[in-house]
Amino acid sequence: MARVFLIGAGPGDPELLTLKAARLLGAAEVVLHDSLVDPRILEAAPRARLIDVGKRCGRHSASQQEICRLLVEEALAGHVVVRLKGGDPMVFGRATEEMEALRAHGIGFEVVPGVTAATAAAATLQVSLTRRGVSRSLHFLAGHGAEDGLPAHDWVALTRAGGTLVVYMGGKTLPGLAAHFIEAGMAADMPAVAVEDASLETQAVMRGTIASLPSLVEAAAPRGPLLVLIGPAMRDETVLDAYLAAGV
Ligand code: SAH
Repeated sequence: MARVFLIGAGPGDPELLTLKAARLLGAAEVVLHDSLVDPRILEAAPRARLIDVGKRCGRHSASQQEICRLLVEEALAGHVVVRLKGGDPMVFGRATEEMEALRAHGIGFEVVPGVTAATAAAATLQVSLTRRGVSRSLHFLAGHGAEDGLPAHDWVALTRAGGTLVVYMGGKTLPGLAAHFIEAGMAADMPAVAVEDASLETQAVMRGTIASLPSLVEAAAPRGPLLVLIGPAMRDETVLDAYLAAGV
């Protein structure tokens, strides 16, 4: 039986925690959690020893190696261990390293999915990420790479695909990201939206185009996690109707 659970905490709103996540948190003896996890969610684990292994840009946090070591150590000590990650553990969550460490020690584990930021932001915007005739593909991109800047995406291929591009961790690199897309041939008026703190009371929306969004975001100076969504599906309804009518 699994004694380690890699659990998605969802985007922030405690009501978006799955029933399974809540049940397992209730039984947890140790919880290793990210800083992004809302304190109200940690209340679901009243019996557990809470360890903040948090990761937020610019703040000291445990290294990935240290997190893996802790996870293995607590599991081998016989505790019921929950590794709680923001959103879904399998989307930009460094789950691979942790699963490898557990496998290497023969420790059984289970993964519990969570609501990822992309779908939470779509709910905030009341806009579907896919839309018949408008956007038939969905791409999740990292806005930040291991080398402390933009990853080397295939900007032309992403632009040509014409789907909805969802950028995680792109708050700081947005100007470079926008420049790459425009250089790759994306129309400067392509709708682009940023959602801060999706699903929380503090959520905020910044709406513009691929050309204007970087300065709009800079002016708004968001402090919470920021998700950037780009593509024709992000056109607001009235504009979208005209766009469809024009048969573009
Ligand atoms: N595993 C997470 C993503 C971790 S990467 C998930 O599935 O959602 C961290 C990035 O996720 C942040 O930089 C931000 O881009 C995004 N993010 C996480 N929670 C968010 C929220 N509530 N609102 C907006 N963006 C969020």
